[in-house]
Amino acid sequence: MKIRDILKNKKPSVSFEVFPPKKDTAFAPVKAAVARLCKANPSFMSVTYGAGGSANMNTLDIASFIKDECNTTPLAHLTCVMATPDKIKDEAARLTAAGIENILALRGDMPSDATVPPPGHFTHAIDLIKMLRELGDFCIGGACYPECHPECEHLADDIRHIREKVDAGLDFITTQMFFDNDVYYRYLAKLRDAGITIPVIPGIMPVTNKKQLPRITKISEAFLPMRFKAIADRFGDDPDQMLNAGVAYATDQIIDLFANGVNAVHVYTMNQPIVAERIMANLGSIVAK
Ligand code: FAD
Repeated sequence: MKIRDILKNKKPSVSFEVFPPKKDTAFAPVKAAVARLCKANPSFMSVTYGAGGSANMNTLDIASFIKDECNTTPLAHLTCVMATPDKIKDEAARLTAAGIENILALRGDMPSDATVPPPGHFTHAIDLIKMLRELGDFCIGGACYPECHPECEHLADDIRHIREKVDAGLDFITTQMFFDNDVYYRYLAKLRDAGITIPVIPGIMPVTNKKQLPRITKISEAFLPMRFKAIADRFGDDPDQMLNAGVAYATDQIIDLFANGVNAVHVYTMNQPIVAERIMANLGSIVAK
């Protein structure tokens, strides 16, 4: 099923995200986690694509597993940085052959030993979106950043680039994680002012382990409200307490989003069924079954 059709549903729904096994690591534990996550009834499940393409085949394998064995709609992430057009054509052909209809089209992060892509390689996600539009009848999503992409100096310029991606053929965009819903509401208003009318799915990261925090702030540069910091300070050293508090904080964010008219929320579940199950149990009849 295409995600653009799922997003027409007016009843609140939640999607999950998983990452595939890294090169040469076992599939079995990831598949077991994915199968459990699918049982928690996500509207769709996205599968990340290894930075620099390191685990690209594994993304396809896990997306196929989600579709064929867990009966859930998969969204395969695909990055283009350091890829040639021929490589992208191969990837799109493999996804089509496997019956994967939904792609999250991303640039990806530049490898640490490179500053610009080699000649003939893709530079920005918009190049990938344009090519995918020509290669098949995909439902295509893209990434957006409520607190501005770290490489872009001004939010207005970043939003102009998002508008260009939308005009190139995006069906929806998913946000980087944020911990203060007002950040999302202000951003959404700016996107609508810029003429962007497609669904903007908020991305929620449940922080259930204090050790996640340095990496989270490094990749997202997200604003951490005092209420959030107090939770990590008070409960961060006790894994069980931090799990309870992190799930409660994420649930609170999701309920506030639904209450304010959002219908689809994406949760960065990161192969942790326990977190997804607890959030879905908290949401109960609020979400579509
Ligand atoms: P782009 O849209 O190309 O934007 C990148 C930067 O370039 C921005 O600063 C933008 O303002 C600027 N820009 C865009 N167009 C132009 C232009 N024409 N001229 C000048 N500047 C321009 N990474 C992975 O490796 N694997 C994943 O699976 C993955 N999943 C993600 C899922 C979500 C929901 C999000 C939010 C991010 C994900 N990422 C993933 C991270 C993402 O790849 C990085 O944030 C990357 O740095 C930017 O990707 P993008 O698609 O937003 O790039």
